[in-house]
Amino acid sequence: AKSNGRNCSFVFAEQMSSDLANRMQLEAELRQAIEQQQFSLSLQPQVDLISGRLCGFEALLRWQHPQRGMVPPDEFISVLEQAQLMTGVGYWVFERSCQHCVTLIQQGLSQVVIAVNLSADQFLDRNLPENFAAILQKYALNAAHFELELTESTLVSNINETLDVMHRLKALGFAFAIDDFGTGYSSLNYLKRMPVSTIKIDRSFVMGMLDNPADEQIVASTIAMVHKLGLKVVAEGVESLAHLQLLQRYNCDFAQGYYLSRPLPETQLVDFVTNQVLQ
Ligand code: C2E
Ligand code: CA
Ligand code: CA
Ligand code: CA
Repeated sequence: AKSNGRNCSFVFAEQMSSDLANRMQLEAELRQAIEQQQFSLSLQPQVDLISGRLCGFEALLRWQHPQRGMVPPDEFISVLEQAQLMTGVGYWVFERSCQHCVTLIQQGLSQVVIAVNLSADQFLDRNLPENFAAILQKYALNAAHFELELTESTLVSNINETLDVMHRLKALGFAFAIDDFGTGYSSLNYLKRMPVSTIKIDRSFVMGMLDNPADEQIVASTIAMVHKLGLKVVAEGVESLAHLQLLQRYNCDFAQGYYLSRPLPETQLVDFVTNQVLQ
């Protein structure tokens, strides 16, 4: 077939406009999802590697689309962010996490910690600390039950505003975790400026650790360095007993992954906790 520059750019423009159309369609559907409450949370257990006990859950957003079924967050969170809808949805995520926290405390998990993911935009919302405080008060909860997760890239733009909101949240008693650690830029530079208590090693390193000596060294030395800074480490992507044992050998504090449990739909949370306590 014959091809020339004009055809190429025509194909490119067509591709672009269909991407744009898809995004606009998705955005319209997401506005409807907000109105019609099509969101839910999945809660993935986190385990203390010293005691072997369940210590908390990460709250993960889910979208049940009326036709397409469950849409994974990687396909819609960036659209929510670009449409400036994530701040509002973020409040919903936090409030729903509070409701689950109350349930978990009633189930006997008096020290449970729920990890909640926050987008960069949420840290630029100057009212976030007061609004989170009001939601906590509504459920009579202490901020110590929550760990707010952010990625390294969150800090890159608007560093001063973000740090200000972080410090105000910290004053309320919230803790912070750096998510996907090692995959962003300037990790170490930003690390010392942020009031964080936990580092989450990205699952790509954990999953590679058994076959790839470089990944194993990255995991081992990240844990050692993070401990020297007085912080705790969560390993994500723990998919087998071999992963778990190697992480224990390197003194990792907490683990999360399919080997321990898949993220649980909200309806399975109480059953999971009940069985856990009976063990
Ligand atoms: P993340 O924060 O890194 O969350 C961990 C992801 O790893 C989750 O994907 C979880 O289901 C998956 N995972 C857990 N254990 C394993 C394992 O053993 N192996 C493998 N291969 N994967 C595992 P999920 O639920 O699809 O979420 C994807 C991302 O969407 C999250 O990555 C997070 O960046 C974002 N996200 C989810 N919920 C929220 C939210 O409420 N707010 C914001 N801002 N982002 C969210
Ligand atoms: Ca996370
Ligand atoms: Ca992560
Ligand atoms: Ca991620």
